[in-house]
Amino acid sequence: MAGRRTLTIIKPDAFAAGKAGAIIAYLENSGFTIRAARVAHLSQAQAEAFYAVHRGRPFFASLTSFMTSGRCMPMVLERDDAVATLRTVIGATDPAEAAPGTVRKLYAVSKERNAIHASDSDENAVAEMGFFFAEMEVGVGGW
Ligand code: ATP
Ligand code: MG
Repeated sequence: MAGRRTLTIIKPDAFAAGKAGAIIAYLENSGFTIRAARVAHLSQAQAEAFYAVHRGRPFFASLTSFMTSGRCMPMVLERDDAVATLRTVIGATDPAEAAPGTVRKLYAVSKERNAIHASDSDENAVAEMGFFFAEMEVGVGGW
């Protein structure tokens, strides 16, 4: 059964542009509740660890530089079928290809500065929630 929790990050472009409130409202209107949230500023090592799967890709240095460029907002979100639903509502990686009305179509600047992250599987959601939050912060049911 698909899990009820996933990890999102309002990325530094959207946070710096003052879009965090609008994006949170969008996510709540999409049926998600916030289980945990914080404002963070990633170090280079933390950004490289979070996106380790992309190490070696041509955009890795630029991506990690972007992700450390300012504050961001990691959150644990909850609803039925959390991972797949969030991936749908954020839209394609490149806002030029994102469906109308998706978070990235509305708020992303470019394929790199694309406003929001979302876990891509239940397994990765568990790992990514653990990257940013202690189990006690997420509360009853843990991961
Ligand atoms: P995320 O993991 O942040 O939710 P995603 O799953 O849609 O995004 P990935 O393929 O995992 O896309 O890429 C991770 C991030 O790396 C993208 O969100 C984007 O910020 C950046 N990125 C991916 N591909 C490119 C590219 N070709 N050029 C520039 N940046 C890229
Ligand atoms: Mg991804």
